[in-house]
Amino acid sequence: MHNSDVTELSLTNPHSQPTSTCLAALDSRADGLTGLEAARRLAQHGPNRLPEAQTRGPVRRFLAQFHNVLIYVLIGAAVVTGALQHWVDTGVILAVVLANAVIGFVQEGKAEAAMAAIRGMLAPRAAVLRDGARTSVDGADLVPGDVVLMEAGDQVPADLRILEARGLAAQEAILTGESVPVDKVVNPVAADAALGDRRSMLWSGTLVTQGTARGLVVAIGTDTEIGRIGGLLAGLEQLTTPLVAQLDHFARWLSFLILLASGLLLAYGYFVGHHEFSEIFMAVVGVAVAAIPEGLPAVMTITLAVGVQAMACRNAIVRRLPAIEAIGSVSVICTDKTGTLTRNEMVVAAAETPEGVFDISGEGYAPEGDITPAGNLDGLARAATLCNDAELRLRDGHWSVEGDPMEGALVAFARKVMDEPRALTRRLDAIPFDARHRYMAVLTEGPAGRVTSVKGAPERVLGMCRDTDLKHWHDRAEALARLGLRVLALAERPETGERIDAATVESGLGFLGLVGLIDPPRPEAVAAVAECRAAGIRVKMITGDHAGTAAAIARQVGLENPGRVLTGAELERLDDAQLALEVSNVDVFARTSPEHKLRLVTALQANGHSVAMTGDGVNDAPALKRADAGIAMGLKGSEAAKEAADLVLADDNFASIAAAVREGRTVFDNLKKVISWTLPTNAGESMVVVLALLAGLALPITAVQILWINLITGITLGIALAFEPTEPGTMARPPRARNAPILSGELVWHVVLVAFLFLAAVFGIFTYAIDRGYPLELAQTMALNTLAVLEIFHLFFIRNIHGTSLTLAAVRGTKVVWAVVIAITAAQFAVTYLPPAQAIFGTRAVSLVDGLLIVGIGVVFFAIIEIEKQIRLGLSR
Ligand code: ADP
Ligand code: MG
Repeated sequence: MHNSDVTELSLTNPHSQPTSTCLAALDSRADGLTGLEAARRLAQHGPNRLPEAQTRGPVRRFLAQFHNVLIYVLIGAAVVTGALQHWVDTGVILAVVLANAVIGFVQEGKAEAAMAAIRGMLAPRAAVLRDGARTSVDGADLVPGDVVLMEAGDQVPADLRILEARGLAAQEAILTGESVPVDKVVNPVAADAALGDRRSMLWSGTLVTQGTARGLVVAIGTDTEIGRIGGLLAGLEQLTTPLVAQLDHFARWLSFLILLASGLLLAYGYFVGHHEFSEIFMAVVGVAVAAIPEGLPAVMTITLAVGVQAMACRNAIVRRLPAIEAIGSVSVICTDKTGTLTRNEMVVAAAETPEGVFDISGEGYAPEGDITPAGNLDGLARAATLCNDAELRLRDGHWSVEGDPMEGALVAFARKVMDEPRALTRRLDAIPFDARHRYMAVLTEGPAGRVTSVKGAPERVLGMCRDTDLKHWHDRAEALARLGLRVLALAERPETGERIDAATVESGLGFLGLVGLIDPPRPEAVAAVAECRAAGIRVKMITGDHAGTAAAIARQVGLENPGRVLTGAELERLDDAQLALEVSNVDVFARTSPEHKLRLVTALQANGHSVAMTGDGVNDAPALKRADAGIAMGLKGSEAAKEAADLVLADDNFASIAAAVREGRTVFDNLKKVISWTLPTNAGESMVVVLALLAGLALPITAVQILWINLITGITLGIALAFEPTEPGTMARPPRARNAPILSGELVWHVVLVAFLFLAAVFGIFTYAIDRGYPLELAQTMALNTLAVLEIFHLFFIRNIHGTSLTLAAVRGTKVVWAVVIAITAAQFAVTYLPPAQAIFGTRAVSLVDGLLIVGIGVVFFAIIEIEKQIRLGLSR
């Protein structure tokens, strides 16, 4: 059918051509291309992709490493020491600057690679007709001539000429700036119509806000309208969060303060202390370098990137980085039921018609099973398949669904009843399912004439039927729901016209029966709910399903208060103040519409909660945006929901939310650890030099040594904290208070204590060495090694800020910790014992006994801070 010789398929102004002309021009048909032809065209036209946002090249990225206050200070210092002809100092400074830039460059590269990998995971998919059947492909694999199926919430994957539209509207703000959705139609429009008026087209990158459509791909990649105006793939934002930005700001101003203080110190030392300029200058540079926490933002960025990666491994994909902090602090999780707490692998287990009650056996989507007792369910089965968009697929002996799992289950059920339920019928019109009206209707033409088939929530469908015992059927639906079954009612009506709409369909239907579907809870979701509850997080279920079904599932997954259900209708009768009162104690919200989610988030936030909210539909977007952590479903979620969300769950599984909370808490802990380790270390080291200068004493550690200990030892050890695993008990702690400051009183106290202990240890060992008659260089070498040992012990202490560091697991540490500790120890040995290093750093070999003494000081230091922590933890318990 396809003419493979046609290499140039050309079609100008598709918006003004009839659909048949467009199909012919692209050598396609209403039921799409063959798989073979699509593959051929993909090879010819290339993937449907926009160029990625330009990332900085390696050179620019490397140069950017030199753009910070500390490096400017160091380069200034190198110039001054050069002018003074202190070549060794100049050399060391430049080497340190370079080493610093290389460490930063490599780590930042890893962080960027991690983020790029995440971007790939969010690539959208498209439902397309290939070989006449619906399949889901990567958006990048679309080719001109493909026929794409669109529904509300989808992002348009390419420029499409609409072949068929039903209640279709799209939001095209990214192209036209117009945020009001535009109604779309099949009929051609004038050739010279403006972009926003070409209503027969759907443009790549825009969002379908309502309705369904079938569209012919007429342009892909850079040939699309969005491609032509140079649109880019939406990337992830910068690698920062409110906390990191806040600390960045803090570090910057602290740096200026330190520079000012250093200037004063230089003046004081020169004019009052009468030191020689070159000597005092290097000492002051040492102070500045020791004190400026410039390494902090870099290490924090790495910590975030590690966290993003860890979350991705647990199927939680971060779209907006602040979500990492937010998800770690949530106190309430509002979750969908279907597919998140449950498996969304449905099976019809029961059917009820006026004729009787039937049990249906069989597993999965295989259309094999028995119906007991035997009876005539043909009418029910036919309506269930006609009012249905799903298809079953047999692959390698395994049945799966293409489309909605519930509809797939209905197809499987129907095929247990009869062989070819859809035989010889043709769809004329449809009203798609919408969470707001809760039913779906389809008009078909077949051997028995035209008929409208309807399926939907029983309350809704029963209300549309005539001559039924409403009371009886409501009770029966209720009874099935109480068993935890998802209940649907089916109805039909003969039709004469060719179109249906909501106004005519919503009355006068003939009731056919009820079906009950099992959708069992996910076992891992049950465990995750328990984990969240232990972590002080309240889990609430918000579902469009029946109150009875919702309560039964809530009980099965172990929500705190499954007995009390608030329905959407009840919720509407409450004003905001009443809702804020009610919302705390209710965990199950049933028969809700997406609009209710927004009110629930707001009410919970009004009670001071930090709220995570899940969503999948177009209309969930406002609630996802409003929530502290908006979470979209990666599998069944619409592009609109993903767009609005902070996190996307790759597997739609509630357990992944719990995992994200755990990782979020870990990242926050690690950021705190990085800060708690860096600030006191910096304070201690700089105070050593400041004190010596002010008291007019010999420097216990030289400026060059300070550079070494701070920029090489310090940064390397600090990075280890970015990789810290989750501390035990992380999910047994209550959530941290929203907006709790990171620079807490506790941290300030820790800085003071550790700085003081550093001072005491360094001056202690230095004085001891001088008293023993050691040369100044040896005394300084001992002080230098004492600092390195203290840093290492402090690192082990900081690894366990919430528990004791004296467990076997804590001592065993992680690979990263041991790698850096071994590297630093080896480096210290080199600096202390290798003659060339001794020449550069002015060091001397330390004896074994003195070496043991230094390690002993580390042990005592560790004992003091660990005991102090235990006292503090004991008091706060
Ligand atoms: P959930 O929170 O379980 O995902 P939904 O909003 O998807 O709830 O569905 C709400 C109700 O609408 C269901 O309980 C069911 O009765 C009905 N329903 C769901 N999907 C369809 C569909 N494809 N066609 C007809 N009715 C549906
Ligand atoms: Mg649903």
